[in-house]
Amino acid sequence: MTESITLALQHVRQRLADAERVAGRPAGSAQLLAVSKTFPAADVQQAYLAGQRAFGENYVQELQQKCAELAALDIEWHFIGPLQSNKTRPVAELAHWVHSVERLKIAERLSAQRPEALPPLNVCIQVNVSGEASKSGCAPEQALELARAVAALPRLALRGLMCIPEPTEDAARLAAQFALLRRLQQQLAAEGLALDTLSMGMSADLAVAVAEGATMVRIGTAIFGSRHYH
Ligand SMILES: *Cc1c(COP(=O)(O)O)cnc(C)c1O
Repeated sequence: MTESITLALQHVRQRLADAERVAGRPAGSAQLLAVSKTFPAADVQQAYLAGQRAFGENYVQELQQKCAELAALDIEWHFIGPLQSNKTRPVAELAHWVHSVERLKIAERLSAQRPEALPPLNVCIQVNVSGEASKSGCAPEQALELARAVAALPRLALRGLMCIPEPTEDAARLAAQFALLRRLQQQLAAEGLALDTLSMGMSADLAVAVAEGATMVRIGTAIFGSRHYH
Protein backbone atom coordinates (compact mmCIF):
# COMPACT_ATOMS: atom_id res chain seq x y z
CA MET A 1 0.00 0.00 0.00
CA THR A 2 2.59 2.54 1.10
CA GLU A 3 5.03 1.41 -1.55
CA SER A 4 2.34 2.07 -4.14
CA ILE A 5 2.29 5.77 -3.17
CA THR A 6 6.02 6.00 -3.84
CA LEU A 7 5.58 4.34 -7.24
CA ALA A 8 2.53 6.43 -8.12
CA LEU A 9 4.43 9.59 -7.24
CA GLN A 10 7.29 8.57 -9.51
CA HIS A 11 4.81 7.92 -12.29
CA VAL A 12 3.15 11.34 -11.84
CA ARG A 13 6.54 13.07 -11.83
CA GLN A 14 7.31 11.32 -15.10
CA ARG A 15 3.95 12.39 -16.60
CA LEU A 16 4.66 15.96 -15.54
CA ALA A 17 8.16 15.90 -17.03
CA ASP A 18 6.78 14.44 -20.27
CA ALA A 19 4.07 17.11 -20.41
CA GLU A 20 6.65 19.87 -19.92
CA ARG A 21 8.84 18.45 -22.68
CA VAL A 22 5.95 18.01 -25.12
CA ALA A 23 4.85 21.60 -24.39
CA GLY A 24 8.38 22.83 -25.04
CA ARG A 25 8.68 24.12 -21.50
CA PRO A 26 11.68 23.91 -19.16
CA ALA A 27 11.86 20.89 -16.85
CA GLY A 28 10.53 21.83 -13.43
CA SER A 29 8.51 24.82 -14.65
CA ALA A 30 5.30 23.21 -13.40
CA GLN A 31 5.32 22.32 -9.72
CA LEU A 32 3.55 19.30 -8.27
CA LEU A 33 1.04 19.79 -5.47
CA ALA A 34 -0.02 16.45 -3.93
CA VAL A 35 -3.70 16.63 -2.98
CA SER A 36 -4.08 14.46 0.13
CA LYS A 37 -7.70 15.20 1.08
CA THR A 38 -9.50 12.21 2.66
CA PHE A 39 -6.22 10.26 2.95
CA PRO A 40 -4.56 9.63 6.33
CA ALA A 41 -1.46 11.36 7.63
CA ALA A 42 0.47 8.11 7.10
CA ASP A 43 -0.07 8.46 3.34
CA VAL A 44 1.16 12.05 3.41
CA GLN A 45 4.21 10.87 5.30
CA GLN A 46 4.88 8.21 2.70
CA ALA A 47 4.80 10.77 -0.10
CA TYR A 48 7.02 13.02 2.03
CA LEU A 49 9.56 10.24 2.39
CA ALA A 50 9.51 9.98 -1.40
CA GLY A 51 10.51 13.64 -1.59
CA GLN A 52 7.16 15.45 -1.92
CA ARG A 53 6.92 18.66 0.15
CA ALA A 54 3.78 20.53 -1.02
CA PHE A 55 0.41 19.05 -0.05
CA GLY A 56 -3.13 20.28 -0.73
CA GLU A 57 -6.15 19.94 1.55
CA ASN A 58 -9.83 20.84 0.99
CA TYR A 59 -11.36 20.67 4.44
CA VAL A 60 -10.39 22.88 7.37
CA GLN A 61 -10.72 20.23 10.02
CA GLU A 62 -8.64 17.79 8.05
CA LEU A 63 -5.96 20.41 7.53
CA GLN A 64 -5.85 21.03 11.28
CA GLN A 65 -5.58 17.32 12.07
CA LYS A 66 -2.81 16.62 9.58
CA CYS A 67 -0.84 19.73 10.52
CA ALA A 68 -0.90 18.55 14.12
CA GLU A 69 0.01 14.95 13.31
CA LEU A 70 2.77 15.89 10.90
CA ALA A 71 4.12 18.95 12.71
CA ALA A 72 7.63 17.47 12.75
CA LEU A 73 7.81 17.41 8.93
CA ASP A 74 8.78 20.38 6.76
CA ILE A 75 5.54 20.41 4.75
CA GLU A 76 4.19 23.31 2.69
CA TRP A 77 0.40 23.20 3.17
CA HIS A 78 -1.95 24.50 0.48
CA PHE A 79 -5.64 25.02 1.19
CA ILE A 80 -7.54 24.44 -2.06
CA GLY A 81 -11.17 23.91 -1.01
CA PRO A 82 -14.17 26.20 -0.61
CA LEU A 83 -13.64 28.42 2.42
CA GLN A 84 -16.44 29.83 4.58
CA SER A 85 -15.81 33.08 6.37
CA ASN A 86 -16.27 31.56 9.83
CA LYS A 87 -13.48 29.03 9.14
CA THR A 88 -10.73 31.33 7.90
CA ARG A 89 -8.72 31.59 11.13
CA PRO A 90 -7.16 28.10 11.26
CA VAL A 91 -6.34 28.39 7.56
CA ALA A 92 -4.67 31.78 8.10
CA GLU A 93 -2.65 30.25 10.91
CA LEU A 94 -1.68 26.92 9.34
CA ALA A 95 -1.54 27.21 5.55
CA HIS A 96 1.31 28.52 3.42
CA TRP A 97 -1.00 28.99 0.43
CA VAL A 98 -4.74 29.38 -0.23
CA HIS A 99 -5.81 28.72 -3.83
CA SER A 100 -9.54 29.27 -3.42
CA VAL A 101 -10.01 32.97 -2.72
CA GLU A 102 -13.15 33.96 -4.63
CA ARG A 103 -14.43 37.02 -2.78
CA LEU A 104 -12.93 39.96 -0.94
CA LYS A 105 -14.46 39.22 2.43
CA ILE A 106 -12.55 35.93 2.70
CA ALA A 107 -9.31 37.60 1.66
CA GLU A 108 -9.79 40.39 4.22
CA ARG A 109 -10.32 37.90 6.99
CA LEU A 110 -7.30 35.81 5.98
CA SER A 111 -5.16 38.96 5.96
CA ALA A 112 -6.45 40.16 9.33
CA GLN A 113 -5.98 36.72 10.90
CA ARG A 114 -2.55 35.92 9.47
CA PRO A 115 -0.20 35.79 12.49
CA GLU A 116 2.43 38.55 12.54
CA ALA A 117 5.20 36.03 13.16
CA LEU A 118 4.53 34.30 9.83
CA PRO A 119 5.35 35.55 6.33
CA PRO A 120 2.41 36.82 4.25
CA LEU A 121 -0.01 34.09 3.17
CA ASN A 122 0.34 33.23 -0.53
CA VAL A 123 -3.01 33.32 -2.29
CA CYS A 124 -4.54 32.59 -5.67
CA ILE A 125 -7.86 33.90 -6.88
CA GLN A 126 -10.16 31.12 -8.03
CA VAL A 127 -11.91 31.92 -11.29
CA ASN A 128 -14.98 30.17 -12.65
CA VAL A 129 -13.71 29.50 -16.16
CA SER A 130 -16.49 27.14 -17.23
CA GLY A 131 -19.40 29.44 -16.45
CA GLU A 132 -21.24 26.61 -14.70
CA ALA A 133 -23.61 28.08 -12.13
CA SER A 134 -22.64 25.46 -9.55
CA LYS A 135 -18.94 26.22 -9.73
CA SER A 136 -16.89 28.11 -7.18
CA GLY A 137 -14.79 31.05 -8.25
CA CYS A 138 -15.32 34.64 -9.27
CA ALA A 139 -16.55 35.47 -12.75
CA PRO A 140 -13.71 36.19 -15.19
CA GLU A 141 -14.97 39.78 -15.56
CA GLN A 142 -14.55 40.31 -11.80
CA ALA A 143 -11.02 38.94 -11.57
CA LEU A 144 -9.19 42.23 -12.16
CA GLU A 145 -11.12 44.19 -9.55
CA LEU A 146 -10.81 41.40 -6.99
CA ALA A 147 -7.10 40.97 -7.74
CA ARG A 148 -6.46 44.69 -7.17
CA ALA A 149 -8.24 44.61 -3.83
CA VAL A 150 -6.52 41.41 -2.69
CA ALA A 151 -3.10 42.70 -3.75
CA ALA A 152 -3.61 45.70 -1.47
CA LEU A 153 -4.11 43.58 1.66
CA PRO A 154 -1.07 43.76 3.94
CA ARG A 155 -0.73 40.15 5.11
CA LEU A 156 -1.43 38.41 1.80
CA ALA A 157 0.87 37.86 -1.17
CA LEU A 158 -1.24 37.57 -4.30
CA ARG A 159 0.56 34.92 -6.36
CA GLY A 160 -1.82 33.83 -9.08
CA LEU A 161 -5.03 32.41 -10.41
CA MET A 162 -6.63 29.02 -9.94
CA CYS A 163 -9.38 27.18 -11.82
CA ILE A 164 -11.27 23.92 -11.90
CA PRO A 165 -12.59 23.38 -15.43
CA GLU A 166 -15.83 21.69 -16.32
CA PRO A 167 -15.66 17.90 -15.86
CA THR A 168 -15.26 16.75 -19.44
CA GLU A 169 -12.86 14.54 -21.36
CA ASP A 170 -13.05 16.88 -24.33
CA ALA A 171 -9.44 18.10 -24.46
CA ALA A 172 -10.32 21.07 -26.67
CA ARG A 173 -12.92 22.34 -24.20
CA LEU A 174 -10.51 21.87 -21.31
CA ALA A 175 -7.76 23.66 -23.21
CA ALA A 176 -10.06 26.60 -23.92
CA GLN A 177 -10.92 26.95 -20.23
CA PHE A 178 -7.27 26.74 -19.12
CA ALA A 179 -6.36 29.26 -21.83
CA LEU A 180 -8.95 31.66 -20.43
CA LEU A 181 -7.12 31.59 -17.08
CA ARG A 182 -3.80 32.25 -18.83
CA ARG A 183 -5.26 35.18 -20.77
CA LEU A 184 -6.60 36.63 -17.53
CA GLN A 185 -3.11 36.37 -16.05
CA GLN A 186 -1.76 38.28 -19.08
CA GLN A 187 -4.48 40.88 -18.72
CA LEU A 188 -3.61 41.42 -15.06
CA ALA A 189 0.07 41.72 -15.98
CA ALA A 190 -0.82 44.43 -18.49
CA GLU A 191 -2.59 46.25 -15.65
CA GLY A 192 0.55 46.12 -13.53
CA LEU A 193 -0.33 43.00 -11.51
CA ALA A 194 2.36 40.48 -12.37
CA LEU A 195 1.44 37.07 -10.93
CA ASP A 196 3.73 34.04 -11.19
CA THR A 197 1.26 31.21 -10.56
CA LEU A 198 -1.35 29.44 -12.66
CA SER A 199 -2.82 26.68 -10.47
CA MET A 200 -4.58 24.34 -12.89
CA GLY A 201 -4.56 20.69 -13.89
CA MET A 202 -5.65 17.62 -11.93
CA SER A 203 -5.05 13.88 -12.36
CA ALA A 204 -7.08 13.53 -15.55
CA ASP A 205 -6.04 16.73 -17.34
CA LEU A 206 -2.48 17.37 -16.20
CA ALA A 207 -0.96 17.38 -19.70
CA VAL A 208 -3.57 19.73 -21.16
CA ALA A 209 -3.04 22.15 -18.28
CA VAL A 210 0.74 22.10 -18.68
CA ALA A 211 0.37 22.72 -22.41
CA GLU A 212 -1.73 25.78 -21.54
CA GLY A 213 0.80 27.17 -19.09
CA ALA A 214 0.06 25.67 -15.64
CA THR A 215 2.80 26.42 -13.11
CA MET A 216 1.25 24.27 -10.38
CA VAL A 217 -0.76 21.10 -10.95
CA ARG A 218 -2.93 19.72 -8.15
CA ILE A 219 -2.83 15.91 -8.24
CA GLY A 220 -4.75 13.66 -5.87
CA THR A 221 -6.12 10.43 -7.35
CA ALA A 222 -3.06 9.63 -9.46
CA ILE A 223 -0.88 9.69 -6.33
CA PHE A 224 -3.08 8.42 -3.50
CA GLY A 225 -5.76 6.42 -5.32
CA SER A 226 -9.50 6.96 -5.48
CA ARG A 227 -11.22 8.74 -2.65
CA HIS A 228 -13.98 7.26 -0.51
CA TYR A 229 -16.16 9.85 1.16
CA HIS A 230 -18.01 8.96 4.29
C1 LIG B 1 -9.61 17.03 -5.15
C2 LIG B 1 -9.02 18.20 -5.87
C3 LIG B 1 -7.93 18.04 -6.74
C4 LIG B 1 -7.31 16.71 -7.09
O1 LIG B 1 -8.11 16.06 -8.02
P1 LIG B 1 -7.70 14.62 -8.64
O2 LIG B 1 -8.60 14.46 -9.79
O3 LIG B 1 -7.90 13.61 -7.56
O4 LIG B 1 -6.26 14.71 -9.04
C5 LIG B 1 -7.41 19.19 -7.31
N1 LIG B 1 -7.92 20.41 -7.06
C6 LIG B 1 -8.97 20.59 -6.24
C7 LIG B 1 -9.49 21.95 -6.00
C8 LIG B 1 -9.56 19.49 -5.64
O5 LIG B 1 -10.61 19.69 -4.83
